[in-house]
Amino acid sequence: YSTATGTFRSLRPAVPLPPPDAPLSFPAFAASLLPSPPPAHPAFLDAATGEPLSFPALLSRARALAGALLRRGLARGDVAFVLAPAGLDVPILYFALLSLGAVVCPANPALTAAEVAHLAALSGASVAFAVSRTAAKLPPALPAVLLDSDEFRASLQSEDHPGAKPAAVVVRQSDTAAIQFSSGTTGRVKAATLPHRGFIAMAAGARALLRPLPGRERTLLTAPLFHSMGFAVVLTGVARGQTTVVVTEAVARAGVKGVAAAAERWAVAEMTAAPPVVMAVAKDANCRLPALERVICGGAPLPVSAAETFRRRFPGVDLCMGYGSTEGGGISLMIGPEECARVGSAGRVNENVEVKVVDPATGEPLSVGQKGELLVRGPAVMSGYVGDEEANAATFDSEGWLKTGDLCYIDQDGFLFVVDRLKELIKYKGYQVPPAELELVLQSLPEVVEAAVMPYPHEEAGQIPIALVVRQPGSKVTEAQVMDHVAKRVAPYKKIRKVLFVDSIPKSPAGKILRRQLTNYVQLGAVSR
Ligand code: AMP
Repeated sequence: YSTATGTFRSLRPAVPLPPPDAPLSFPAFAASLLPSPPPAHPAFLDAATGEPLSFPALLSRARALAGALLRRGLARGDVAFVLAPAGLDVPILYFALLSLGAVVCPANPALTAAEVAHLAALSGASVAFAVSRTAAKLPPALPAVLLDSDEFRASLQSEDHPGAKPAAVVVRQSDTAAIQFSSGTTGRVKAATLPHRGFIAMAAGARALLRPLPGRERTLLTAPLFHSMGFAVVLTGVARGQTTVVVTEAVARAGVKGVAAAAERWAVAEMTAAPPVVMAVAKDANCRLPALERVICGGAPLPVSAAETFRRRFPGVDLCMGYGSTEGGGISLMIGPEECARVGSAGRVNENVEVKVVDPATGEPLSVGQKGELLVRGPAVMSGYVGDEEANAATFDSEGWLKTGDLCYIDQDGFLFVVDRLKELIKYKGYQVPPAELELVLQSLPEVVEAAVMPYPHEEAGQIPIALVVRQPGSKVTEAQVMDHVAKRVAPYKKIRKVLFVDSIPKSPAGKILRRQLTNYVQLGAVSR
């Protein structure tokens, strides 16, 4: 921590990066890290079928596909919208597009056609990659390549064609590698652009921090491949020489049980998961994971009680929490395997990342232990939102720091604690009530499976915090008991003033509570106080 600038830097040894001006695409960087001959274990494995994709096959098919796309007229800077279910062809596609300097713009296949049209337009996509089933959702004017077509399959087979070669394409590290959708600190969804250099830095950092577990290279990726976390793991997994076990639709359909079964079946040593998956695995008494050594968890807070349950259940497993965001270019702070004792922290500053905690009102840097908005700077941070100068101006300060909208503090040992999201604040009589804090308190009640706290309009107070609670099956815990449990643990102005028992809490594929949808659960006028 520098008192002069208020900046926190990594306590870990520096990780050298290639010179920034040297032309280098992410795939070229990843390939340069692989040993020769390449690892004998596969780069990817389909969790449902066990089908492998070897490192040489990944690289040669990506080169063949890149050649075919180049001949089709795809050029550096073109935005490729990807609407495809998870499968082994997706990493090949990502590597092919990246090697050409085309921009990978993956989206959730579960979106509606209207949402897809909106996102495709936002990104400025000029071509789409889909499967027959998802292609119907694409805007008719967008030319589409079908991953399940014979033509596509044939294009993976041969690199041997006359004409322009992908290797001749010059990709700069500052070129945009990917577009990811995020609402960031402001309400509406936006298209964040992430440069090759960011993924290079991310992979270099991951290689240093998450050292391979020799002979146990399998890592289960439970996040969807279109999400920033899944996308990053596909890329960094190759750079780390790992076998990434891909959770395909067939596995995902079985929910957490399917994921746990895949982890067991493929004897994975490592698993990347959002908190709900980690919690479910910890609570599932039948789940046996003898090979598991490390869990990488991030994207949302993991309640301390859940982390403790996990540690009791899997005492030998390192639970590595990560804090990150789409705009920050993936994980910015992380608990390394040697730092796991610090339960509750979201991580320590990663190599090549700088963070600051500032007073959200004045922007003045704060010191160790003080709560404020977390700002992030470094090569992995997005270049900006596509065509949205207003949001860019609101998101970056004058020195290029990214505002995360997260209320955090960093302790004297450099551990980050996320207190709440400033972007979702409840104000009760002018006092700030952070929903995440109350959710953690609610989740410490054994009868509670999950809970969400949201603001509810109130004449006198402005807003009051109310809770939506999913009870354990068979639990008879009452509204009064739940409110009492919270009231005993928080300041009076933070008390929960109404509890609604619900069957589920709406969450994104990455496990984040979909706050906007919570209002659907609440009957207007249901709250009397
Ligand atoms: P996304 O862009 O979807 O990855 O969401 C980023 C946001 O998720 C951050 O700004 C945080 O609000 C939240 N988040 C990510 N990781 C953590 C974590 N480890 N603890 C608490 N919140 C987190």
